[in-house]
Amino acid sequence: LFQDRKLGIALVGLGSYSTNQLAPALQKTQHCRLAGIVTGTPSKAEAWKQKYNIPDKNIYNYQNFDRIADNPDIDVVYVVLPNNMHGEYVIRAARAGKHVICEKPLAITVKECQDMIDACKKANRQLAVGYRLHYEPFTLEMMRLGQQKVFGAVKFVEASDGFKAGDPNQWRLKKSMAGGGPLMDVGIYAVNGVRYVTGEEPISVTAQFGPKTNPEKFKDVEETMFWQFELPSGAVSNSTTSYSAGVERLYAAAENGWFELRPAFGYGPLKGNTSKGPIEQPIVTHQAVHMDGVCKTLLDGQKLPDHITGEEGLRDVRLLQAIYRAAETGRKIDL
Ligand code: NDP
Repeated sequence: LFQDRKLGIALVGLGSYSTNQLAPALQKTQHCRLAGIVTGTPSKAEAWKQKYNIPDKNIYNYQNFDRIADNPDIDVVYVVLPNNMHGEYVIRAARAGKHVICEKPLAITVKECQDMIDACKKANRQLAVGYRLHYEPFTLEMMRLGQQKVFGAVKFVEASDGFKAGDPNQWRLKKSMAGGGPLMDVGIYAVNGVRYVTGEEPISVTAQFGPKTNPEKFKDVEETMFWQFELPSGAVSNSTTSYSAGVERLYAAAENGWFELRPAFGYGPLKGNTSKGPIEQPIVTHQAVHMDGVCKTLLDGQKLPDHITGEEGLRDVRLLQAIYRAAETGRKIDL
């Protein structure tokens, strides 16, 4: 049966997210399977080959990656590399004729995001962003409560995401690879959260850098940041992101009540509450529902919904850049 067909996914970059989240999730998916890998580390290729029974012909490195064009086992390339490498590999995947899923942030500049979107369009392939929460039930309920004004119009959102970054030598602390600090890495969830709870696009932003309490570790990127959006309805938001301490919540105050997720952005289980009682939703594997959601749409020959496309990824990168500009200039930036 055609419906039983699973799309073959090749993961590019076998780091912690691929290893600990995506590969295990791909053992639970209905509409896709782990079919190939792209890695610069031969020992990983060997280990993955054994563990996941991947044939040699579906194993690539960064040099011979373009030959994936000739491999019918691979339908979708999933780019899970450091942020500054997303652009190159998405574009090469599109040129190889593959659909692409790309991790967040889509890229580190708006121009690069646009080039990636254009390359996929030109190749007549679809580009999805790795927003796993967009298929996650607690998050979908927050979208419904906010966008359908279940507690009246949303007036205020607090969305914050931060954690204590360990290894001082990781690429996440290098501006050239990460594009910035915690804002690029997890602050993006708070930006996206304000947008999906309100269903609105911010019209202005103010922002502030927090102090560097560890100037050596944070010589290249911010340690903590705060920002505020104004939304067209008059709603406002306030956010914090940090690599110094943990924070993870999405809270909306509306005319007739409030609703929140805490935790809101991690791998879960997420937990939700409202002024009328708890949010009850099934606990799912975020990565499995995300990849299944995207691949089901591709298998059905449908266009991906706007909220999971490269354009959606670009909107957030544009806002991240505006947040940096607002903090650097100390001025309110109109969007
Ligand atoms: P890691 O550092 O753990 O892995 C990155 C991998 O990329 C490496 O293991 C390596 O794989 C490959 N790579 C190729 N060139 C380089 C290089 N110059 N420096 C470092 N690594 C290189 O990162 P993560 O897995 O944590 O993150 C990867 C991407 O996934 C990021 O964009 C991140 O934002 C995103 N992410 C998304 C999450 C989500 O919840 N949606 C959660 C975590 C990360 P190899 O040895 O196979 O070549």
